[in-house]
Amino acid sequence: MSLAGTMRYFIGLATDQLLPHQCLLCGRFCFDRGVCASCWDGAWPISAPLCHRCGRPLAHALPDHLCGQCWLAPPPLAAIRAGFVYNDFSRALILPFKHGDALHLTPVLGRFVTRHFNAMNDPGSLVIPIPLHRRRYLLRRYNQSAELARWLAATDTFAPNMLQRRHHNKSQAGLSRLRRKNNVAGIFSVPHKYRDILSGRPVILVDDVMASGATLAAAARCLLAAGSGPVKGLVVARVL
Ligand SMILES: [Zn+2]
Ligand SMILES: [Zn+2]
Repeated sequence: MSLAGTMRYFIGLATDQLLPHQCLLCGRFCFDRGVCASCWDGAWPISAPLCHRCGRPLAHALPDHLCGQCWLAPPPLAAIRAGFVYNDFSRALILPFKHGDALHLTPVLGRFVTRHFNAMNDPGSLVIPIPLHRRRYLLRRYNQSAELARWLAATDTFAPNMLQRRHHNKSQAGLSRLRRKNNVAGIFSVPHKYRDILSGRPVILVDDVMASGATLAAAARCLLAAGSGPVKGLVVARVL
């Protein structure tokens, strides 16, 4: 780094520590790049005790670490983890990220889930975002899940084209659990040219929000059928 670059780096470091920033939610000044203490009060971060399989928060620790639903019908994913419960706090961050071009939120949301990502990042894992349908991608011009996955992954493990969306499913909003499952069944595919790279590799699927888990499950089934190793899922927030 040049002398000027080194000076810029240290001045940046000093001003980051000394000067206040604006809270991303309320706009008030705070001494951190992110969310102020008062807005943070509304956050519901997910931590132990939780179901080791689906990541659902549990009222108390269970001996086998599995929730009732995973006991009866475990998801095709080896593990699912979420940074937060989907509530007013996480919605206020995720909606502008999803629909409002607010890509400057990528590192903020990324840092919220880095701990979970590092814990599930087995050697050789491919990091694959849930794809948007091409029509939706053209309208929005970016895939927020891919931006998050790109931020989390190392360059050589980020695999944004591994999973493709075959057709445009109806929105999942307002559908029952069974309808959601049927709505996304068979919508994903893995192009043949990528199957050798995928073969036997563990996968981390990345998405912004998980509602019923039907989309993650459909994507995981498709990857497993195409020969992947175990598939895990990481989302910023999950609906309880
Ligand atoms: Zn605030
Ligand atoms: Zn569970």
